[in-house]
Amino acid sequence: GVEVRNLSKSFGSNHVLQNISMTVKPGSVTALIGPSGSGKSTLLRCINFLEQPDRGTIAVGDTMIDSEKTIRDIELLALRREVGMVFQSFNLFPHMSVLRNIAFPQEKILGRSREEAEERALTLLARVGLKDKANQHPSRCSGGQQQRIAIVRALALNPNAMLFDEPTSALDPEIGLEVLAVMRDLAESGMTMIVVTHEMQFARDVGDHLVVMADGGIIEEGNPAQIMSAPQEERTRRFLNAVL
Ligand code: ATP
Ligand code: MG
Repeated sequence: GVEVRNLSKSFGSNHVLQNISMTVKPGSVTALIGPSGSGKSTLLRCINFLEQPDRGTIAVGDTMIDSEKTIRDIELLALRREVGMVFQSFNLFPHMSVLRNIAFPQEKILGRSREEAEERALTLLARVGLKDKANQHPSRCSGGQQQRIAIVRALALNPNAMLFDEPTSALDPEIGLEVLAVMRDLAESGMTMIVVTHEMQFARDVGDHLVVMADGGIIEEGNPAQIMSAPQEERTRRFLNAVL
């Protein structure tokens, strides 16, 4: 699971995250929504310390880091190993084949042999229907295929939790469905997930928990269907009206 406690983050005088606490139970899916600039991406980036929080603790699996103590590199590596991240832009390595894109990080980060890493890559590619793309370059794959490859690349490292930052918003709606289907399978396989998304149907059907952010804070959270049908906060209502 993922546990965020009293997390704060400012950029200069811009208090982007203000005392955020959030619990994501092992094997559950939390959907994170909120207006542009509310701090959703920053929150995800703080969870794996792509951004250094000013205050607060982050725990993923068995690894916990207090941002106000001296952080050792070994702790940072351990935490990052627990977390897989998928971005809106797929960020595949353009000069490597699809297979090498997935195998290379396993070799570098986990020290797996090339053979072992490529075998795992092929197994995962088959799971998302892309085994026949193994020897292609990413540029020869569609956006939806590239995003599924990016998901597989993160999964190949056996993370404890997966973070998704608007994984379908750069894709045509129809293509986005392919990616959402893979994410649904992943959720059903028991992966712990935090998903920033405007796909309300996905949030309702796959999400176990919905967190609504505004102005760097959590303004409302709970059962997704319940919040969508009867939001308690005016700002949630306004946001839902805009996206539903
Ligand atoms: P969107 O829905 O548009 O993706 P978001 O909820 O993900 O928005 P963030 O990207 O987390 O929002 O940004 C929150 C605030 O933090 C914004 O005011 C943004 O300008 C600011 N911010 C984010 N990253 C940085 C940075 N590296 N340096 C300075 N300010 C930043
Ligand atoms: Mg964002």
